[in-house]
Amino acid sequence: MSGTEPRAAGAEFSAIGQALAILGDRWVLLILQRAFLLRIRTFAGWRDALGISESVLAARLKELVDHRIFEPAPYRNGRTRYEYRLTERGLSLWALLVAIHLWERDWADRGRLPSLRHDLCGGDAEPYLGCGACRKPMGARDTRTETGPLTAFPRIGLPRQHRRTVRPGAAADLVAYCPETMEILGDRWSTSVLVAALLGTRRFVDFQSGLGIAPSVLTDRLRRSVELGVSDPLPDGSYRLTDKGLAFFAVFAFLVDWAQRELPAPEGSALTIVHSPCGAALDPVLFCAACGRPLRRREIRFVLG
Ligand SMILES: [Zn+2]
Ligand SMILES: [Zn+2]
Repeated sequence: MSGTEPRAAGAEFSAIGQALAILGDRWVLLILQRAFLLRIRTFAGWRDALGISESVLAARLKELVDHRIFEPAPYRNGRTRYEYRLTERGLSLWALLVAIHLWERDWADRGRLPSLRHDLCGGDAEPYLGCGACRKPMGARDTRTETGPLTAFPRIGLPRQHRRTVRPGAAADLVAYCPETMEILGDRWSTSVLVAALLGTRRFVDFQSGLGIAPSVLTDRLRRSVELGVSDPLPDGSYRLTDKGLAFFAVFAFLVDWAQRELPAPEGSALTIVHSPCGAALDPVLFCAACGRPLRRREIRFVLG
């Protein structure tokens, strides 16, 4: 297993590219998901819950500590051991993980994944993405982007080079999740193609020139996005995002928000997203469909079996 050392922080890549390099990994997302969902804090806890090899788990935890998403804290249990606590930076990933969970549940898993209850109102939260400024629902179609001069697409993606192996039974586990998210976030070009589409690109030549992508690679990723049901080919040769593809905007919005708040990046590499109806800069918030209030991390829980 290679590629486990942390990337140089902020040197070359946009915040979004760095975030993808950190999070575009199934094990990392599963480790974080178990930390939030089951409050797992220890090496043995993740090893037993995920069936992950000790060397892979150790490498992932080291990366997450290096990126200040976890901090090790010693505790005594006969001899001194460490548990891994989410830092403020790590805790602020919860909305992104919820958005991934919701997208997988609604568009990939078709109903097996647990729903979320909102403690404040007791209702089924059915969270939806809204704008923190005007509190109205927010989607890909009512936002516009103002890219900085250095927001070139090659700077967006630097996900890992290696492929992960996952134990065969993992997909059947009720709270194992994100297989389709990983198809997208785990592959640099898949991510770039979807981001370009969310930003309005539709024609093959425009993807090609905007992304600097080889035609054969672009053909392959567009074919894959059609197979995933994320985009539809049109008779004129262009591609249109499906509702499933458009719904991925919620994941993208929280990824961009977290990355650009938490990670240092070169000047001018930021991607500015504006909520068109109110003109406010991107401030993604999950709202409760039952009571209309913003959802806070401590006020929602998964309804498990
Ligand atoms: Zn707004
Ligand atoms: Zn509520």
